[in-house]
Amino acid sequence: MTGTQETIVIVGTGFSGLGMAIRLKQAGIENFILLEQAAEVGGTWRANHYPGAACDVPSPVYSFSFEPNPAWTRVFAPQAEILAYLKHCADKYQIRPHIHFHSRVESASFDETSGLWTVHIDGQKPRVCRFLIMASGGLSRPAYPDIAGWKDFKGPLFHTAEWRHDVPLRGQRVAVIGTGASAIQVVPELAKEVAELKVFQRTPAWILPKEDGPLPRRGQARNWLLRKFLYWQFEMRAIALLRPKLMRYGQRMAEDYLQEEVKDPQLREKLRPKYIMGCKRVLLSNDFYKTLQEPQTQLVIEGIERITARGIQTRDGVEHEVDAVVCATGFQVAEATAPFHITGRQGQVLSELWKDGAQAYLGSTVHGFPNFFFIVGPNSGLGHNSIVFIIESQVQYILGALRQTLKQGWKSVEVRKEIQDTFNETVQKNFKHTVWTREHCRSWYQTPSGKNTTIWPGFSFTFRLRTLLFNAAAYHCLDPDAEKEMAQPQFNALHSR
Ligand code: NAP
Repeated sequence: MTGTQETIVIVGTGFSGLGMAIRLKQAGIENFILLEQAAEVGGTWRANHYPGAACDVPSPVYSFSFEPNPAWTRVFAPQAEILAYLKHCADKYQIRPHIHFHSRVESASFDETSGLWTVHIDGQKPRVCRFLIMASGGLSRPAYPDIAGWKDFKGPLFHTAEWRHDVPLRGQRVAVIGTGASAIQVVPELAKEVAELKVFQRTPAWILPKEDGPLPRRGQARNWLLRKFLYWQFEMRAIALLRPKLMRYGQRMAEDYLQEEVKDPQLREKLRPKYIMGCKRVLLSNDFYKTLQEPQTQLVIEGIERITARGIQTRDGVEHEVDAVVCATGFQVAEATAPFHITGRQGQVLSELWKDGAQAYLGSTVHGFPNFFFIVGPNSGLGHNSIVFIIESQVQYILGALRQTLKQGWKSVEVRKEIQDTFNETVQKNFKHTVWTREHCRSWYQTPSGKNTTIWPGFSFTFRLRTLLFNAAAYHCLDPDAEKEMAQPQFNALHSR
């Protein structure tokens, strides 16, 4: 095996990668590197710089607990502020010397004899490490819609996550495909400058007003209180996701908002969702409905047949001529398997193991893949609160695993199959009476067969409790020489569920 050796390799420098790196440093562990394919930190907040990009989770809870940001200017921070915050974290905690930019990981494989991972990087010498931490994010691979005729379109066509600032859209005729979280932010901004805007909707979304506004600077104590208050306010939303009967109150609020905002009954009908609220992300916007009623804007619901040289042809035979097409069509998540080729013990390939749906233990570790960790892995996404809370939970859990492994001198740790299986059975059972299993509920949270491999079907604080301590008894912990398993205390049955 050739290559440079480190103890820990972290892939990605978004909230997850930076959070992990900072906590490692705080724990006195310095022998780690971060591999970043881009030229700057920030992950999804570096990549998504489309006009109007902002957070739909309140800023005070959208930051690390150990690094509150008194500089947020608004309740819902714009993308530039979140990116600035992440750059500040990288600088303040001196993470940059550990980062290798322009380092796109192509594959990684585990060698059982040495107990080491080899990480292959595009155009570079491979890196060898003991621990590999995937912090590459769930929303890093844009999904272009599967529509015929892409190559035929003569004008610019790009994704919200790959925004082309070099393409002048002022005074142009523009199409936006999609009406999800990115679309409702970009549409009002585009409408301010384009001559014509056609918004192609496949499924209407549930939309609530965004209680946004300036956020005055406040002292540490008031910041802390506000963070706690907002966390619990958002956490309460999980009750309705888990007990769908209660969702009728949320739906009524959204229906009232639609009624107030959209005067034309025909347009209102087009915008009325037919599935239960919470099945897909509930969107927040004060200007999306208003924008759709502006004279230069048109909502198209006829369904896209194909892209043509001059625009978009819908199923009713109409060709909508446009100068540019923007795909606000989301990311490859549940249907995608692993972000790159990952080979574990006995040549097991992660994407093959996951072809019917990704699964892990606590969204962090995978049987067959020793010394390998995910941040925001399978079933650790949230539909109701700040993902930074989950990220910090997993970072703490992984840190516990690393500390114990290094301290005890174990060669490797690998979650036990029966533990992972029981955990996943319980996770899938927990979906049973939630909004995500209601009739007509289909979303990118699910695989094509309908299995939800993305969302944590519970409160975020229960996830925090589950990940507070690394429970070695759930793992095969290998002795460095004899490769025999270290004696473990009796596994606490509570932890398998
Ligand atoms: P999304 O929520 O997956 O929305 C994609 C949109 O494109 C949907 O309306 C979808 O319709 C439509 N679409 C996909 N393929 C299509 C096709 N072939 N023809 C027509 N329409 C098609 O993606 P997103 O808006 O980028 O958001 C993804 C996630 O990113 C969010 O859920 C959220 O977690 C995150 N995000 C967060 C923020 C934030 O403020 N924090 C902002 C943006 C995004 P269907 O509904 O019918 O599939």
